Amino acid sequence: MFKQFKANRSRLQKYTSGILPLVLIGGWLYPPLGFSLLICMFGAVGIALYKGRAWCDWMCPRGSFYDLFLDSLSRKLPIPSIFKTNWFRTIILSLLVAVLSVQIYYAWGDSYGIGRAFVLVLTVTTTVGIVLGAVFKPRAWCQICPMGTLGSWLSTGKKPLYVSEHCKDCKLCAKVCPMQLKPYDSKAGFMADGDCIKCSSCVAACPAKALGFEEELRKAA
Ligand code: SF4
Ligand code: SF4
Repeated sequence: MFKQFKANRSRLQKYTSGILPLVLIGGWLYPPLGFSLLICMFGAVGIALYKGRAWCDWMCPRGSFYDLFLDSLSRKLPIPSIFKTNWFRTIILSLLVAVLSVQIYYAWGDSYGIGRAFVLVLTVTTTVGIVLGAVFKPRAWCQICPMGTLGSWLSTGKKPLYVSEHCKDCKLCAKVCPMQLKPYDSKAGFMADGDCIKCSSCVAACPAKALGFEEELRKAA
């Protein structure tokens, strides 16, 4: 079941991950392509308002790219705990907003210049993400991505993962979680972590069928 689930998820991710090189490389040749980043920004934040960080699962081209292409390259060291702290994430968010704002300010009135600013930020952050993902788990960047951070803050408590009392503490859920979360810690309750990207990898992998999302549980009731 898990193999089939993974194949289905990878198929979706293959479609979206192709957008990343298209914008990254194409954007240097035709800078207005950089405006497509706005779709990512509004998509991530908009979906977070009612479904948590679900955008980051397979809809985000960069997150999909990291899952698919860094998995075999990565040393998969644990993601540093500092990446989970609000103060560190706020610094990264503020830094990137400041850099982008200054660039847009100087390019104001020039659509190519503004587009180039988006492409530049995408290029730098994607490169940092590749380096982080090669050393730590592939989704290391997703812990500090500004859109992910905003999504996480808006997501807390939205579509939480339910962990039933049938959990056997095998910890397989944590092993397959791309975001280094530990569903088993919330046994007989909801895991409300805003960084859950609702990928359902843990749900598919759990041998005790102890996991599910609220709406699935409601349907089953
Ligand atoms: S995979 Fe299932 S049974 Fe194993 S620890 Fe996680 S929730 Fe519990
Ligand atoms: S807790 Fe489960 S659904 Fe959430 S990110 Fe981890 S594997 Fe995906």
